[in-house]
Amino acid sequence: MQLLVIEDDDAIADLLLRGLTEEGHRVTRARDLAEARTELGIHEVDALIVDRGLPDGDGLQLVRELRQRKDTRPALILTARDALDDRVEGLYGGADDYIVKPFVIGELVARLAAVSRRAGTVQSGRIEVGDLVVDTEALRVWRGSDEIGLTAQEFRLLRYLAEHRGRVLPRTRILEAVWDLQDDPGSNVVDVYVSYLRAKVDKGRSEPLIHTVRGLGYVLEQRA
Ligand code: CA
Repeated sequence: MQLLVIEDDDAIADLLLRGLTEEGHRVTRARDLAEARTELGIHEVDALIVDRGLPDGDGLQLVRELRQRKDTRPALILTARDALDDRVEGLYGGADDYIVKPFVIGELVARLAAVSRRAGTVQSGRIEVGDLVVDTEALRVWRGSDEIGLTAQEFRLLRYLAEHRGRVLPRTRILEAVWDLQDDPGSNVVDVYVSYLRAKVDKGRSEPLIHTVRGLGYVLEQRA
């Protein structure tokens, strides 16, 4: 998995990076909330390991933000504050599990595997973003009660955006994931297909879900 470790303490971050890399994960690190938000916008991240005491705030705030955006990526909270109230607050904040420092890396790896499995089963074949429903098993799409007819390629693109909802996806990554192309053959195929999707999914709706992030790419999310 691609992991994001958000931890300001160098010694703990090094321990995590080493331990998780040895387990076969790819790991990037952010030192505070601001760096974490940037990383989430740029890199593919499958799960997060989040310290609570960060220089610019509480790591739990970031998890709350993600959950408000219906981002269900697993988040494991690290904290030195070994208090029951803290643990309860952590889980209410949308965190999937909680681990108290000092911890054993083996336990952290096991907990991470457990929350990722749970996240995987929760997703099943139905992804919801606002009133948009993408059924990846039946290959059908609705907004509210209206079913939307898509071509196979439009569906592949929407499914990719939906699976990565709330994340800004650069054109190059979309091209590689949906078209299996390393470079655009000069046809702006991603932009063309995003415009087809918008015409079917967003046009005439009060709340558009497909957004352009200038200079970066596209994101599917509810911005109510
Ligand atoms: Ca800290």
